[in-house]
Parts: sequence; structure tokens; C-alpha cells
Amino acid sequence: MKILVTDGMDKKALQQLKDMGHEVIEQFYEPDELGKALHDVDVVVVRSKTKVRAKQIDEALGGRLKLIIRGGVGVDNIDVGYAADNGILVRNTPLASSQSVAELALGHMLSCARFISHAGYTMRNGQWEKKAYGKGIELCGRTLGIIGYGRIGAALGRMAKAIGMDVIAYGVHHEPGTLARDGVPYVSMDELLERSDFISVHAPAAEDTIINAQSIAKMKDGVVIINTSRGANLDEAALLEALESGKVRAAGLDVYAKEPPENNPLINHPRVSCTPHIGAQTGEAQARIGQEIVGIIASIQQ
Ligand code: NAD
Repeated sequence: MKILVTDGMDKKALQQLKDMGHEVIEQFYEPDELGKALHDVDVVVVRSKTKVRAKQIDEALGGRLKLIIRGGVGVDNIDVGYAADNGILVRNTPLASSQSVAELALGHMLSCARFISHAGYTMRNGQWEKKAYGKGIELCGRTLGIIGYGRIGAALGRMAKAIGMDVIAYGVHHEPGTLARDGVPYVSMDELLERSDFISVHAPAAEDTIINAQSIAKMKDGVVIINTSRGANLDEAALLEALESGKVRAAGLDVYAKEPPENNPLINHPRVSCTPHIGAQTGEAQARIGQEIVGIIASIQQ
């Protein structure tokens, strides 16, 4: 098969695809050029940069394209329903990056507790802000509320328990098996908001924001909010206001309403720990994503 890889892929997996006899082309296409390129390939492998919308699918129709693979979890950069209606399969690699994203969320929690991110920035500017960043808190003994106790949420829950946090969870689907295994009580959204010292969001992109002025109003004063899920889940203006008022102690963000963010005051806020959507960007996750992609391609050949 002819396989187009637009946003990069693990080197070992690329070689495996070639060893399987496939022609592999590594090239990024701008949206206007992508549809034409898709017309001539059997499979396209994308991460998050390439958007495969109805327009590109229309341009590819009548050609060879039969499979779109998203190396990662969220498929919000692909018009999945439209592809399916046109007989094009869409697959993702949901298992590969859970631990990496969960570890980044934990990193942001620690960063928010001790202002690690901004304290480092001020030191690089020649400052010694011992007093300003001297009011740290510990994670041990505090309550972490996880919104969306799926693959990533559960991975975070297990690590948080290991460092002595009390963990509670809410999600639209009650997953009694996982929650019981991890010893994590399932609570209502309101109870989670009211009880948690740290709140971390791990739900797919919701139609309405999950963290907004209404939900923040129900939270404890001094709460820490972490979002490594999707920018659509958080009202950035409401978070900024709550940081300014002191209602929210700090926030850790890996995802944004607009990526890359443009003139987003949250990025420069001294109590925001931010990363540029790197949740799945570890060697381990990328290697696992590569292996899942090889597996998907091998399975459709049979
Ligand atoms: P998952 O499907 O395993 O779990 C999602 C959980 O969210 C489920 O338990 C579900 O019940 C719950 N849920 C769904 N809608 C909800 C809602 N509106 N409110 C509350 N809970 C809701 O997914 P996952 O693999 O754990 O991924 C979680 C999120 O992480 C997704 O948004 C995904 O796009 C994102 N993600 C981000 C990165 C990154 O680089 N930052 C990488 C991978 C995944």
C-alpha cells in the first residue's frame, strides 16, 4: 500500500512499514494541497497538526484512500462521520499515550503547588523571588477530583493515590470496575467541585465547557485546576478572572481554545504552568503509537 505520513512517526515503526513492503511517504501538506495528495494514497497517518475535513475527503473521493489513522487519542481534527459515510475507515491509537499524559498532568499539579514553572522563569531573568514563590502546598493529604475517569484519568488517579492524595472521580459513564480496582469513590459533579483541592479534567472535548464560571463558583477557594484534555473543555476568560480574584490558586494547562494560542493572557500569568500540547510527546508514547499504527495497517491487509 501507499502510506502517507503527514505529521511524523516513530522511526522504528516507519521502518517496519517499509519492511512489510509498503511505500511510505513522509510529507506535510497544507490544507489546500492535502485532498489531492490523499487521492493517490491508500492510508494517511496524521497526528494533530493535519486536519482532514470534509473538503479534503471530497477531493480524495474516487481515489485510493481507504484508511485514516490518527496517531493519538482525540479525533477532533478529522471529520470522522463524513469519512465513514464515504466508506473511509478512521482509526486512532487510544491506549498508547495514557501514562505520558497522566504524568504531565501530575507534573503540572506539582508545578502549581510550588510555582516551579514561573519560579524557574524568574530566576532565568536574574530574580530571586523566594518570598513570592515561598507559599507552597503539598499534594499529600489533599483531595484530587478527576473529571473523566477513563484511561488517562485512571492513570493519574493511581499515581496520585501513591503519593498520598485522596482521589474522587466523576464522569458521564460510571465505570464501577476501574473505580473499585483503584479504590476511587465515584461522586456527583457538584460533590467533586465542592470537595477537591485539585481538579484535573480528562474528558473528551465537550460541546459545552466543563470548567466555566458556574463550575468554578462551586469550587473551594484556592483550588488548582489542570487541563490536559482539550481546550474546548475550559472557559479561558472565566479561569483568568478566577485566577485574578484568587478563587483559583493556580492552573496547569497543556491545551488551549486556540492552538497555538494568540494573545492569550493565561500564558503570561504568573500562576499558570503551561506547556504547548505535549501530553503524548514522550519517546515511550510515540513508540507505542508507532506499534499500534503498524498493527492497524497489518490488520486491514488481512
Ligand atoms: P477515555 O475515553 O479513556 O476517557 C474519557 C472519560 O471521560 C470517560 O471516563 C468518560 O466517561 C468521561 N467523559 C466523557 N464526557 C464527559 C463529560 N462531558 N464530562 C465528564 N466526563 C466525561 O479518554 P482518554 O484516553 O483518557 O483521554 C482523555 C482526554 O485526554 C481526551 O480529551 C483526549 O483528547 C485527551 N488527550 C490529550 C492529550 C494531550 O496531548 N494533552 C493526549 C491524549 C489524549
